[in-house]
Amino acid sequence: MSGGLRNVVAIECLSFGVEHSKLIPLATLLVLGGIEALGGVYFDDKRTRNDFSIELISLAVLPTVIQPGIFLLVLGGMAWLLPAWDSALLSWPIWIQFACFLLFDDLTQYGWHRLSHHHPILWKLHRPHHVVQEMGVLVTYRNAFLYYALMPGIWLSAVLVFLGMGSVYSVYLTVKLLVILLAHSETKWDRVLYSTKWLHPLAWIIERTISTPSTHFAHHGLTASDGISNPNGNYGNLLFLWDVLFGTAKITRRYPEQFGAWNRMNEPWYVQLLFPFIRSQDPKSELNTLKSTEDYDPTADDEEVQLQ
Ligand SMILES: [Zn+2]
Repeated sequence: MSGGLRNVVAIECLSFGVEHSKLIPLATLLVLGGIEALGGVYFDDKRTRNDFSIELISLAVLPTVIQPGIFLLVLGGMAWLLPAWDSALLSWPIWIQFACFLLFDDLTQYGWHRLSHHHPILWKLHRPHHVVQEMGVLVTYRNAFLYYALMPGIWLSAVLVFLGMGSVYSVYLTVKLLVILLAHSETKWDRVLYSTKWLHPLAWIIERTISTPSTHFAHHGLTASDGISNPNGNYGNLLFLWDVLFGTAKITRRYPEQFGAWNRMNEPWYVQLLFPFIRSQDPKSELNTLKSTEDYDPTADDEEVQLQ
């Protein structure tokens, strides 16, 4: 392909991405949610009305308030402080721009997520993601608002967009949202890779590259004693490669049967989403204070806790 034609194709792909960056993930969410609902995922007793409230509200607030709010602050602030840098990197090759998002967004999200499983206060912001006892596409964005508001990757993505990488961001974000929605979905698209023998080499590559339902379900599994779950690993969002590189990967090609976190106190949706601004009235709840002697230790496994 000639250089000129390649550029035209790249620009076409980018403008397709820009136009569809919100539509494609939204359609995917609706389709996957519809398939899961037909399969009965949302009609058992594992999900309360409180859970639905957390999921639907966080799903609505993240893309309409938190992410645009951060972008507004960063784009406005940088235009005021460093106007000469506006679109300064627009001419960088597309693959380098994409790599920038993988490093500054996806890798930092891996770090933020991993830290949230080790730091007792940050855990309280990530906790809503793990207390639900079943998977499904609606689990994807259930986190306290502050978890997202402080997430370094969103702030750094806004900086890259200011520097001229907005078109690539639209494509990158679409790909990332698709991968992570699918990784939470009970439709388990990766089953086909494991059940068809000649696809196994492809499975080997894919499961080490991006998050799949098998590896991400393992992150949500209740206890590592089932030989499948990895509640303190498999942190990757778009790329699973980070887990492989940093020694937190567990790949079994199976799916846990029990999900959740061993502390199952189910505080009202507004406490889970707005902590620490709104706190639980129950002194036994870890969402009652920022730090207490009763705090849940996310690094302890469910089985250890039950044996105590
Ligand atoms: Zn997690």
